[in-house]
Amino acid sequence: MPQYNPPLRDLQFVLHELVQVTETFKDMPVHAEVDVDTVNAILEEGGKFAAQVVFPLNRSGDEEGCTLDKATHEVRTPKGYKEAYAQYVAGGWAALSCDPAYGGQGLPHVVNQCIYEMLNSANQAWTMYPGLSHGAYESLHAHGTPEQKATYLPKLSSGEWTGTMCLTEPHCGTDLGLLRTKAEPLGDGTYKINGAKIFISAGEHDMVDNIIHLVLARLPDAPSGSKGISLFLVPKFHVNADGSLGGRNGIFCAGLEHKMGITSNATAQLVLEDAVGTLVGQPNKGLAAMFVMMNAARLGVGMQSLGLTEVAYQNAVAYAKDRLQMRALSGPKAPEKAADPIIVHPDVRKMLLTARAYAEAGRALCVHTALMLDQEISHPDEAVRQSSADEVALLTPIIKAFLTDNGWIATSHCMQVFGGHGYIREWGMEQYVRDARINMIYEGTNTIQSLDLLGRKVLADNGKKLKAFGRKVAEFVEDAGLRDDMQEFVNPLADLGDKVTKLTTELGMKAFGNPDEVGAAAVDYLRVVGHLVFAYLWARMAMIALDRLKEQGASPDPFYVAKLHTARFYFAKLLPETASLIRTARAGLAPLMAMDESMF
Ligand SMILES: Cc1cc2nc3c(=O)[nH]c(=O)nc-3n(C[C@H](O)[C@H](O)[C@H](O)COP(=O)(O)OP(=O)(O)OC[C@H]3O[C@@H](n4cnc5c(N)ncnc54)[C@H](O)[C@@H]3O)c2cc1C
Repeated sequence: MPQYNPPLRDLQFVLHELVQVTETFKDMPVHAEVDVDTVNAILEEGGKFAAQVVFPLNRSGDEEGCTLDKATHEVRTPKGYKEAYAQYVAGGWAALSCDPAYGGQGLPHVVNQCIYEMLNSANQAWTMYPGLSHGAYESLHAHGTPEQKATYLPKLSSGEWTGTMCLTEPHCGTDLGLLRTKAEPLGDGTYKINGAKIFISAGEHDMVDNIIHLVLARLPDAPSGSKGISLFLVPKFHVNADGSLGGRNGIFCAGLEHKMGITSNATAQLVLEDAVGTLVGQPNKGLAAMFVMMNAARLGVGMQSLGLTEVAYQNAVAYAKDRLQMRALSGPKAPEKAADPIIVHPDVRKMLLTARAYAEAGRALCVHTALMLDQEISHPDEAVRQSSADEVALLTPIIKAFLTDNGWIATSHCMQVFGGHGYIREWGMEQYVRDARINMIYEGTNTIQSLDLLGRKVLADNGKKLKAFGRKVAEFVEDAGLRDDMQEFVNPLADLGDKVTKLTTELGMKAFGNPDEVGAAAVDYLRVVGHLVFAYLWARMAMIALDRLKEQGASPDPFYVAKLHTARFYFAKLLPETASLIRTARAGLAPLMAMDESMF
């Protein structure tokens, strides 16, 4: 059976030594009182909840899956899910970073994100029930009317009700401009909505009394394409003026998708038959309102793969220390045993270290970005809010795509460490691979994230956001470059920074000639920039480790020794893939488009 230990030590390292959250909180009046002890106590309790309540349901939930009663359209979640969710609500976890005006605890997002990492390690499919709600909460908080906010936010914030995002239809996922669901005004400020949605995560379940669907639909006079989409709030049960539940609304689960992974999250086909909803935000501006939710969800998806990378790594390490096979090529390392544990073999270590390096840098990136998000929302200085918002916008597609691609590589490596046993269900490793795969697809496929990064976030604003991030890297390189012990990290980082600048300019020029050049290079480009961000974070983490080890002298803390080894592994074995990625990004459009469609 798999195991999970919340990585509290590394979370604390990232929070308190790398980004020094509480120093940053001091500049934000709403968070100024949040101190190190408070943060650590929340993480410890959150870790216990994840490991002791949610994790034990991961395997059984995967085996059991969800069941739809076609007569009632109700979905039953696996045994224990409802009770665990009730504990989650009772513990106040849903409200952690919600607005106190709506019953929230008002804690920083960065703390909430750390809890989500642990919940995702424990059970990604279960975590999607509260996870989706959080996106709905954010979207309503930003765009809801005062009435909508007063009615729905306290319930979403407490977790008593959950939320969904209903974008996808059978004929459209990426291209939402094609969507057909219709909303007609009823003349009393409400709308009658008809249509069909598919693939709706947590779209129907038995864990709460009401589900708040945020649905994209078209008004009768709406312009065609993505400029004619509006957002509507459609509750499963109507809500009376006094807040009590009214009758059943016309939104029903017609089927559940049979999936490769996250089997215990109900992925619903929803039919809207004269469902009654209210408009969220402005008519025809639904995508903008939904983007609040989608951005929150994109960070959330990166956290899902981070969580899976961590838990897969922990289990692969335990197995590699235990499993005896063959002798080390250089001679026995455990002569008293029948064979050496497989952790002596270089390639097994490479697989483990790959997962570890991706988990630790991924954690640093998520925490760094979540702290920027707190600054974007809560910093008193407008200039800081804007620069933080720019950095969050730049890093969001990287978190979504780079972390989920890495999560796929890492979980697959960790399964490989188990040999044939990794492929057998009871070990739990193949579930991590299956669960990780969807993260590259939903919330906009990773290709779409790459187009967003190169096309919108970099080229469309003349590289402004990337240059701002580049300045941070350059400042660090200038400072750390003065130290002999940092050369091994700073030199490759500076070199990659230069190469990214040149590559961006070159791709920008090519895109002028033919916009399809962006599509030909974007996926490779995102991975290169992802590595630039990781190299920056790894170099900073290595510098802290070097400093601590110097202070500790003859009795070094193994945590920092391991951090330094992992940083060296990253620079030696993972970062160099940027050389081939830059080459393939530069190879351009011709090799992809030369062949006529008829020849495929
Ligand atoms: C388990 C699961 C849960 C989901 N949860 C939700 C949910 O809660 N709410 C919701 O609304 N949706 C949800 N989705 C839908 C998901 O977001 C979409 O499946 C995804 O965005 C892709 O859309 P699509 O499946 O229609 O693929 P398509 O849009 O048809 O894309 C097919 C392929 O073409 C590529 N492609 C498309 N356009 C371009 C382009 N311009 N350039 C390059 N390549 C392109 C895509 O990258 C992809 O590889 C879920 C899906 C699944 C499987």
